[in-house]
Amino acid sequence: MYGKRGGEVGQANRKRINEVLDKKLERSSSKGGEGLKNKDRVLMLDEDKKASVELKVAEEPETDSEESDVSGSDGDDSSWISWFCNLRGNEFLCEVDEDYIQDDFNLCGLGSQIPYYDLALDLILDAESSNGDTFTEEQHELVESAAEMLYGLIHVRYVLTTKGQAAMMEKYKNAEFGRCPRVYCSGQPCLAVGESDIPRQSTVKIYCPKCEDIYYPRSRFQGNLDGAYFGTTFPHLFLMTYGNLKPQKTLQSYIPKVFGFKVHKP
Ligand SMILES: [Zn+2]
Repeated sequence: MYGKRGGEVGQANRKRINEVLDKKLERSSSKGGEGLKNKDRVLMLDEDKKASVELKVAEEPETDSEESDVSGSDGDDSSWISWFCNLRGNEFLCEVDEDYIQDDFNLCGLGSQIPYYDLALDLILDAESSNGDTFTEEQHELVESAAEMLYGLIHVRYVLTTKGQAAMMEKYKNAEFGRCPRVYCSGQPCLAVGESDIPRQSTVKIYCPKCEDIYYPRSRFQGNLDGAYFGTTFPHLFLMTYGNLKPQKTLQSYIPKVFGFKVHKP
């Protein structure tokens, strides 16, 4: 279940590791706590390129150009975090603030749970690691999967913070977790939830605040994501924080009928 996606991520991540060092150097001159944003990048282009970029943007409708910017920057100049969150199947994950990850207090206890902890953390933060060049391919893969799990275990803590909940709110507003498949819930947007707080126990599910039940995500790629990266608390704390968003429970329920008569239990 995890293996297939692990392979996909592994390949892409290996390429990513090789790019990290170069990018780190490129960015170190202008880095002020975060990576280059698209605006900054346009400023860095020479005049010819700038003109052509502006022309291209002008030709496209507003919403499309924004989307193409996002996909265009994917993998090249964005941070590991945004690259990882944009991978297919990882759409439920929000981008954790680098400041949050850099605070050791927030990572308390994770060091003992994750192999190659320091290297995995360096990878997530795009930090230069001193012995990256001497790694075998096998070691690279171990660091990659460690980074994935470390990010997930940071994520489950982050989504319980004010900033994390605000980030998830954006996704909820756009129904990015999907909608409840139950007819009487009338397309109610759902929230991501885990059935366990222990990694590798079960995949992520979606929770409907209206019928208060959980369902499989629609996308099979999203269905491979570990539920422990969201945890059992997130949607419920979220709905306590944003109490006004909690919908009324539906009273309507489906009644099975045969020739128009209610089916009685034998
Ligand atoms: Zn529902």
